[in-house]
Amino acid sequence: MEHTGPLDLGADEGARLLNTAVDLVVRHARHVAGGPVAPPEPGTGALRAWLAGYDFTGAAAAEDVLEEVVGRLCAWGVHTTHPRYFGLFNPTPTWWGVAGELVAAAFNPQLAAYSHAPAAVEIERHVLGFLAARLGLPAGTQGSFTTGGAEANLTAVIVALTRRFPGYARSGVPGRAVLYASAESHLAWLKIAHMTGLGRDAVRLVPVDARHRLDPAALRELRAADLAAGREPFLLVGTAGTTGGGALDPLPELAELARGWGLHFHVDAAWAGAIALSERLRPLLTGIERADSVTVDAHKWLSAPMGAGMFLTPHAGALAESFHAATSYMPAETDGAPDPYATSVQWSRRFAGLKVFLALAAAGLPAYAEQLERDVRLGELLAARLREEGWKRVNDSPLPVVCVADPHAGAAWHAAVAEHVVTGGGAWVSLVRLAGQPAIRMCVTSHRTGEEDVEALVRALSEARAAAGGAVDAKVRTGETGPDPTLRPGRTGRGS
Ligand SMILES: *Cc1c(COP(=O)(O)O)cnc(C)c1O
Repeated sequence: MEHTGPLDLGADEGARLLNTAVDLVVRHARHVAGGPVAPPEPGTGALRAWLAGYDFTGAAAAEDVLEEVVGRLCAWGVHTTHPRYFGLFNPTPTWWGVAGELVAAAFNPQLAAYSHAPAAVEIERHVLGFLAARLGLPAGTQGSFTTGGAEANLTAVIVALTRRFPGYARSGVPGRAVLYASAESHLAWLKIAHMTGLGRDAVRLVPVDARHRLDPAALRELRAADLAAGREPFLLVGTAGTTGGGALDPLPELAELARGWGLHFHVDAAWAGAIALSERLRPLLTGIERADSVTVDAHKWLSAPMGAGMFLTPHAGALAESFHAATSYMPAETDGAPDPYATSVQWSRRFAGLKVFLALAAAGLPAYAEQLERDVRLGELLAARLREEGWKRVNDSPLPVVCVADPHAGAAWHAAVAEHVVTGGGAWVSLVRLAGQPAIRMCVTSHRTGEEDVEALVRALSEARAAAGGAVDAKVRTGETGPDPTLRPGRTGRGS
């Protein structure tokens, strides 16, 4: 008998459904580049009206539902898999990654306890060990897959607190604990400080130098003032590849300072940590090998589908101390193999590492290195072409994030330019502020991006500049009008 209950479709029907899903995603992959990167927004009302048709009171053909959903995904939303999405580190996933997701979902192994899913846990450990070795971290480095960089950074704070304050586990955060990260760091630190009970004021944002890197002199001053005020610094974060401008903090110097001061040194390399896979680019991360913990997102520059952050630390003992738990219902620990639920933030744990393992195994290291180096060259091409077109680059990074600005124009003018590019459909760019100044940000983030896409972006930007320059009055150019539209997530200031 094929069907055993109301939710069992049977293997034949299941195969048909999965084939439909495959056809739909392949069709999208074939056609996405021919359409706009960001189709016109339907508005929330239209979306909700469509969804109101689904009251779930009866059954429907899953193929039809899938087709309808995929139609809406195609029509409504920013296409992060488009080769001219010059966006926020969201990659076009590799087919290996997508296949890995499918298999992980279907087997649905529970990685909480080692003994429940030894193959899956070992596959993840193997990938984490590979990355740790590429980064130059010591043998015995441990870690876990996370939902993303934010969870990995949260893990770092918990481990750092556990290492520094013996009372943290039982009585919580001492009131005067503070951490340091640059003013250009990822501001998930503020949420993390809130969540851990440190409080947002515990995040001391250190001023940056002219290249948007954490300024060690400013750090020294800030720390001296904190110590004088009775605060207790416990963590120094170096960002390797800031989200806004791709700045690389001076890691060797920060590692030295952290060691001298007894601070936990965390390197947030969520995006740029990927370059550890290229011999040519890896030296840019020098100093990371001295970190007490590291964050890398495979779902950024390693082109994995989302939900693939990674946390690494050489302090296996502190990791176990930070997350230990024991219950009567969890399976007993396997000797020498720590249970993921007792060494990480999550309890139930999906097999996030398979998609990364499969892509690494199938593509191989040289292909990854070639892709990363190619993206860097495309970034250099973009920067050079924009310079020729008279744009002023306002960030200084060897990585393929290019930020340009008109220093005489305000936020509204930059928003108008970005909006023109996005509404034109030919490319997607975003707005950012660097050292408080508005800029237009572009990142080579899809492995399908080529030179012709870079040229198309340069054209779209020049057209947008011409249109914005003519259409707006002097007030807009100096940013005197309207609310500040920078850093708005999603589409660049359009619609909503
Ligand atoms: C993206 C990013 C994060 C957050 O990672 P998520 O995967 O979005 O949770 C943290 N730090 C840096 C430097 C990032 O670029």
